[in-house]
Amino acid sequence: MIVIKCRRCDSDKIRKNGLTKTGRQQIHCRNCNFYSTIDLKSSERESRHQIADRLYSERLSQRAIARSLRMSRTTIRKALKKSNIADSRITYACERTPYFGNG
Ligand SMILES: [Zn+2]
Repeated sequence: MIVIKCRRCDSDKIRKNGLTKTGRQQIHCRNCNFYSTIDLKSSERESRHQIADRLYSERLSQRAIARSLRMSRTTIRKALKKSNIADSRITYACERTPYFGNG
């Protein structure tokens, strides 16, 4: 079960308070009297981007991540670029390259 918490005071004393014009669920915090909406899409997006980061750090290809998470490759690439994990992997590869020539 998803526990919805107040954005302002982190309390779980939340009650539903109808829908907005665009159909999003409004909530009311009984602790601090704060009215807001539940933003499930952005939290879901955030968790998927974190999963993509973890898969990329396990050296999965961007295409493989896109297939397994059913996201577009462009989205994956943008998310990785934002989190700078792609850069750390490239610098790691550059640090290793001198050792290949000495064999
Ligand atoms: Zn609150």
